Amino acid sequence: MLKKSVVEQIQINKLMATATDTTIAQKLEALMKLQGIDSALDNIFKVRGDLPEEVRDLEDEIAGLETRLAKFQAEVENFNIQINNYRNAKKDSEKLIVKYKEQQMNVRNNREFEAVSKEIELQGLEMEIADKRIKEIEFKILNKNDEIGGVESNLFERNKDLEIKKKELDVIIAESEEDEQKLLKDREKALKLADERLLKSYTKLRDNARNGLAVVMVSRGACGGCFSSVPPQRQTDIKDKKKIIVCEHCGRILAGVNDPLPGEVKEKKTRATKVSAAATASAE
Ligand SMILES: [Zn+2]
Repeated sequence: MLKKSVVEQIQINKLMATATDTTIAQKLEALMKLQGIDSALDNIFKVRGDLPEEVRDLEDEIAGLETRLAKFQAEVENFNIQINNYRNAKKDSEKLIVKYKEQQMNVRNNREFEAVSKEIELQGLEMEIADKRIKEIEFKILNKNDEIGGVESNLFERNKDLEIKKKELDVIIAESEEDEQKLLKDREKALKLADERLLKSYTKLRDNARNGLAVVMVSRGACGGCFSSVPPQRQTDIKDKKKIIVCEHCGRILAGVNDPLPGEVKEKKTRATKVSAAATASAE
């Protein structure tokens, strides 16, 4: 009984090992697929160049100008309210002066007359101050309107630029839209198949890599991302796909090894022969 269970355990271990092997190979395959999709998307975006960013910048700039314009317009509105208040105060002063002048007709003595005269004088001064303030504010409005004019013409120009750039971008997007949509859909599927932890390092690697490559093959004995050579033993490990192996130099995930073409092997041999011949020559 005990023997049987040991045998069973071994079988289970074997099964599990096989399962893990397939999983790693599958994980790498899924990641390579995602890389292929992302690289294709990168190419589409590369064609669009800086246009999307330029359009975004223009949109930001326009939004900023619109905010400034609204602020200036609110300031003018506020100035107009202030002018209105001074005009109303002036009207009040006028009414008071009329009232005081009537009172002056009915004063009983000189002292009362003087007191009312003082009030009239005071209201007259108030009106003068109001006029002065109104003129100051009108000057401010004039200046503000100049600024508004500047912002408006700037807005007009920016909007024209935006329209042109947007049209340009729309044409380029239209050319690749179908491909992009298909790739994005494929990407969704590929993401679901990808291992979560590997996906995290994949994303990080892609963010840091200028060529957008996070998963690469070893080709001609070198990492497909940074072209540093990969030692033969490591290449064998990569081929085994028993664990995830990354490039020692750039950290990219090495998904497999491209077998060299027969021509390439020959070429290398020739070079090696030449080198050893040269070495022999220099030794002599
Ligand atoms: Zn590398």
